[in-house]
Amino acid sequence: MRHLITSALPYINGVKHLGNLAGSLLPADVHVRFLRQAGEDAAFICATDEHGTPAELGAAAEGVPVAEYCDRQHGIQRDLYERFDLSFDHFGRTSSATNHRLTQELFLALDAAGFIEEREIDQVWSPADGRFLPDRYVEGTCPHCGGAARGDQCDACSATLDPVDLLEPRSAISGAAGLEVKPSRHLFLRQSILADEISAWLDSRTGWPPQVIGIARGWLAQGLADRCITRDLEWGVRVPKPGYGDKVFYVWFDAPVGYLSATTEWCEATGRDVGEWWSSEADVRHVQFLAKDNVPFHAITFPASLIGSRLPLHTADVVKGVNWLLHDGGKFSTSQRRGVFLDQALAIAGADQWRWWLAANCPETSDADFTFDRFAAGVNADLADKLGNLVSRVLGLVASRFGGVVPDVAIDEEADAELLTALGGILRDIDRAHRSASVRRAADAVRSLWDQSNAYVAAQAPWTLAKTDPARAATVVRTAAGLVRASAVAAHPFIPGSAGKILSLTGGDGPRWTTDPVEALSGVGGQPADRPAPLFAKLDEAWVAEQTARFSGR
Ligand SMILES: [Zn+2]
Repeated sequence: MRHLITSALPYINGVKHLGNLAGSLLPADVHVRFLRQAGEDAAFICATDEHGTPAELGAAAEGVPVAEYCDRQHGIQRDLYERFDLSFDHFGRTSSATNHRLTQELFLALDAAGFIEEREIDQVWSPADGRFLPDRYVEGTCPHCGGAARGDQCDACSATLDPVDLLEPRSAISGAAGLEVKPSRHLFLRQSILADEISAWLDSRTGWPPQVIGIARGWLAQGLADRCITRDLEWGVRVPKPGYGDKVFYVWFDAPVGYLSATTEWCEATGRDVGEWWSSEADVRHVQFLAKDNVPFHAITFPASLIGSRLPLHTADVVKGVNWLLHDGGKFSTSQRRGVFLDQALAIAGADQWRWWLAANCPETSDADFTFDRFAAGVNADLADKLGNLVSRVLGLVASRFGGVVPDVAIDEEADAELLTALGGILRDIDRAHRSASVRRAADAVRSLWDQSNAYVAAQAPWTLAKTDPARAATVVRTAAGLVRASAVAAHPFIPGSAGKILSLTGGDGPRWTTDPVEALSGVGGQPADRPAPLFAKLDEAWVAEQTARFSGR
């Protein structure tokens, strides 16, 4: 069985905030890293979502062509994700030639199968600009709250809008008023006649978070509306149908095809067979990580496109939707400078500190609230006081009592039977949590492994044993070194940089996963082990106060 792991495609405009990392990119990375270390054939696929009006407007604001704007923004995001140690097998782009081709092929298949319909709809036309103005290209006054709003939504009251709803509408391009409403021909995906198939498909899925099923079922219960999949825009995937030369596909039609096209590009680059990852016949499991606002597109719209196409393509096995990460009780906001963006995050703390806290507090079953106080308390307690302390204590003993070489003795399965039983239980907990893609639960179990390891060292007190029973002291230190190694192996999916450092201190091969406690403790003994410099700096009260003030918003 292969595993295709995807994260929701980050939109091309701008650097993302901690909520985006916590909501899909990081849990997907932790999951795929675990699968790889467990010896599974797993791929992590993602891409930037590059079409739609925000990209056009962002490029216009900077006065550069959209393609050039997207090139630069893609580079900025890719660089940041590398610095956060996100281990994509391929990080593609929905503007790629592959994605254009596959989107058009999917559309042609849907059209041939009878699931596309032409309809005439009223669109806003700007005589001054000589063009139709889709959603965000129209600005004006919100009919609900009187605030300044765009044609797709009002930021002030969060109302979802149509451009024709706005009072005093004007063009976002030229500022021109005098907008008219004219009919324009568009294409609709006939989701309404696919509703029964979508419902049956949802019934056939297992292992979904209850809230995700709830959102999907809610949409079906309302009755699935047909969805307009074309827009009057320049930038996007061209519509391969006569009469549609001046239109492109709606960004939400081509974006999820990015999963397929990025996988295709990865397979072409590495000589793998894309059929093994996307054919409906393939022995593969697709797990899609995303935030809850993306559930309708992944649980309804994209499956409707794939199923309606009648192409032999694999559909999602698990849609792993998570809740929001809040910033001090409120939503992250770019305009209000509220919350931490990813470039700022790396300037004030280490990638592994962020990775650990965000994974250990992953908003899986409810929203999670970030504050600098909680962040500092969490990373200090877990990384510095538990894992960091274990490593320095055990390797310190190796340095001071055993000449810097881990005692080359066997573990004592009889004397340490209790430890082995507890260790086996924890390793199985970690395994179960990861395999059900429960990142937070896996982090909880890893934390208890660190606790168990520290408790063993404290209870055995090898520094005292060294005076009375040097042979047992050597066995205990050798076992403790194995616990250091097992702790680092278990930590690896969460904090790969720091775990890699710990593993290099204790020797042995890579971070291979096992649930067998004896095997987990193997691979140490006889090798030199250095007393490390402190692995995790503590974040103090002054740091918390400074960052809290800086990121609290205006
Ligand atoms: Zn409003």
